[in-house]
Amino acid sequence: MQKPRRMTPNVAVLFHYTHQRKGSDEGMPLVPLTQVLGEAVKGGYGVGAFNCNNMEQVQSIMKAAQECKSPVILQASRGALKYTNMVYLKHLVQAAVEEHPEIPVVLHLDHGTLEAVKQAIPLGFTSVMIDGSHLPFEENVAVTKEVVALAHDHGVSVEAELGTLGGIEEDVVGEVQLTDPDQAAEFVERTGCDALALAIGTSHGAYKFKAEPKLAIDLVAEVWDRVHIPLVMHGASSVPQDLVAEINKYGGKLEATYGVPISAIQATIKYGVRKINVDTDIRLASTAAVRKLLAEEPQKFDLRDYMSAAREAMTKIVSRRMHEFGCAGHAFDYKPITIADMKVKYAQ
Ligand SMILES: [Zn+2]
Repeated sequence: MQKPRRMTPNVAVLFHYTHQRKGSDEGMPLVPLTQVLGEAVKGGYGVGAFNCNNMEQVQSIMKAAQECKSPVILQASRGALKYTNMVYLKHLVQAAVEEHPEIPVVLHLDHGTLEAVKQAIPLGFTSVMIDGSHLPFEENVAVTKEVVALAHDHGVSVEAELGTLGGIEEDVVGEVQLTDPDQAAEFVERTGCDALALAIGTSHGAYKFKAEPKLAIDLVAEVWDRVHIPLVMHGASSVPQDLVAEINKYGGKLEATYGVPISAIQATIKYGVRKINVDTDIRLASTAAVRKLLAEEPQKFDLRDYMSAAREAMTKIVSRRMHEFGCAGHAFDYKPITIADMKVKYAQ
């Protein structure tokens, strides 16, 4: 018998992946948003869409999805693409899918422009948001229609936005203007978008409200009745007070602020919200963990020490949200389809 050739660990890993991947790329692709949200409509739950900018964030979100057996939406804002670079992000997410082929994963462009959409589609994003909410109605319809035609031609899903949120999310700045249900019906009919982001009084960023907010929850039901496509809630971080306190305890200087209570998010899920965007809570969790570790163990200077702490804290908050939104336990409810399958469906 021939003695097996010994390989160094790195070569062994590479060998394993090359062989595992051979001919099996079909088995672990990214999933279109339309399917994941369509299943959420059937199941009556919401799916968390978590912003990611680096490897530790992708890993923590995927670990939470695996532990919770949850479908997941990984999303990248234009700010993330600038920070991480689209190609790095694409490969980080490919690694995530390769490591967890059993989890339905959507790769979504958050707050896209026409140009960003044109970059994202060839990179393999399975969903894009076109944010024309700052434009006059007719212009929003026009740009959204253009993106829908382009994206659907590749089987890629489209989220659009009507009405404006307050707050600041990188270069998205706005005054609150709640979504009008009649206009929403006309908008969805004319654009053919797959999901619609609503303005119901939430805002982006950590500094949302000076007191517990009142959201226009009834508006969700009204819009859902008119459009019957999955609705999306932006600015939905809850800004946990224990994390704010932890950050300030270890040298941070965050001002007093409130987020969206989980009970309010759960109420909107009952009325038709299916995608819930979470970014700020992950930032707070990681910052609190890094500050605590460096304050308690000031002799530490290895990036792996504090990034491990951050990764653990991010996994914890993402898991919590998956349970609260109801998507935990739903990863294996359906057989994921590809954007190639979706392309055929759109063409029909
Ligand atoms: Zn947003």
